[in-house]
Amino acid sequence: MSQEKGLNPFEIVQAQFDENARKGNLDKSMQEFLREAEREIQIRIPVEMDDGTTKTFTGFRVQHSTARGPAKGGLRFAANETIDMVRALAIMMTWKCAVVNIPLGGGKGGVACDPRELSERETEKLCRGWVRKVYDLVGPDMDVPAPDVATNPQDMLWIMDEYDTIARSRKPGFVTGKAVGVGGSLGRTEATGYGVIYCVREAFKRLNIDFKGATASIQGAGNNAQYCCEKFTEYGGKVVAMSCWDPKDKKACTYSCEEGIKPEDLFAPGTLDKFGTINPEKAKEFGWKQEDGNAWITKPVTVLIPAALGSAVHKDNVNDIKFDVVKVYAEGANSPTTPEADKVIKEKGVYLIPDFLCNAGGVTVSYFEQVQNNMNYYWPKEEVFEKLNHIMTSAFNDVMDLAEKENLYARDAAYVIAIQRVARAVEGRGWVKTKK
Ligand code: GLU
Repeated sequence: MSQEKGLNPFEIVQAQFDENARKGNLDKSMQEFLREAEREIQIRIPVEMDDGTTKTFTGFRVQHSTARGPAKGGLRFAANETIDMVRALAIMMTWKCAVVNIPLGGGKGGVACDPRELSERETEKLCRGWVRKVYDLVGPDMDVPAPDVATNPQDMLWIMDEYDTIARSRKPGFVTGKAVGVGGSLGRTEATGYGVIYCVREAFKRLNIDFKGATASIQGAGNNAQYCCEKFTEYGGKVVAMSCWDPKDKKACTYSCEEGIKPEDLFAPGTLDKFGTINPEKAKEFGWKQEDGNAWITKPVTVLIPAALGSAVHKDNVNDIKFDVVKVYAEGANSPTTPEADKVIKEKGVYLIPDFLCNAGGVTVSYFEQVQNNMNYYWPKEEVFEKLNHIMTSAFNDVMDLAEKENLYARDAAYVIAIQRVARAVEGRGWVKTKK
């Protein structure tokens, strides 16, 4: 997220919350309570590196809300991680779980590190070290981590194992996004990207757009973007561009293909690394054209999907969007649009699917994973997708029906629904007494 207007990422999302709290006439004491996290943890994790030296990493866990259930949200590895970034992402998890109406609160964790610089052994030590430092403040009924930017199912297994080792018990529900066969749910890997495209499908229905002839351009080639590409193509559309980070040249680049990037090429061995970087040699083999990092946003497509990092769309590139062609703007990433860019998107009247609705598929299947862990009984993939589809479709329709009825911007409609649900839980528990 950028520093546009001198605001930091947490202040940006707090401002969005405050505005919607005001619009929805939220009680002042409730607003005061909900605008900050219930608990924030900052830790230092010493890791013995492969060369024998010890490096100490700073980590965070922010538990924004536990009113509707245990705090829930990913653990990220990012070089420039800050407490404000984690606070911003934690509060968004609260609204995300509430808007899809799953019985969970919101949290997020982060470690300031460059994951590409860590060996597998160092990554394992970092994951285990993180658990050791937060152990007594988290747990399956308190706060449940999951994968996020640069963390994956293997990391989640190390996290689970460290927790189990300390607990001297088996608690697979402590962490979600685990590998299948070791407590993971089928379909968790696909969940975020599929959820995005289920929302796009519902938007197309409302706008009378057919997938045949529809095109998409996606920012990112990580887990979310990969499964957006797969589902969009399966529905009959073409993904004509995807971007990614090129660690060698330390810059982003876009790969484009007018006939559509084929998922089987994207998933072919050697095309992607575990961080979602596309191998240029493979791209050449498939006939994908390499362009600059910003090219994805300039494409005259039906749908634009920023599905990588925060603040990808900002005041300096928002006007590169082909507003005369682009019909749907689906925020696959968390907070991909800065406030100034958001104003432009709103003014231009593009059909917005706001982030915390659009990308809620991941946490929804995390919830399913916990349910399956508790039962110790695992569902077939079709059942997971059927349930995910049902939840995403209902949440999408609730938000868009309200937006249409009250003439609200879709982001505001999503906030209204989420804030009301969380406030009801906080009040019901007797934490905040509101003026009747
Ligand atoms: N990191 C994902 C998100 O931002 C998933 C969180 C989860 O599954 O708990 O929604």
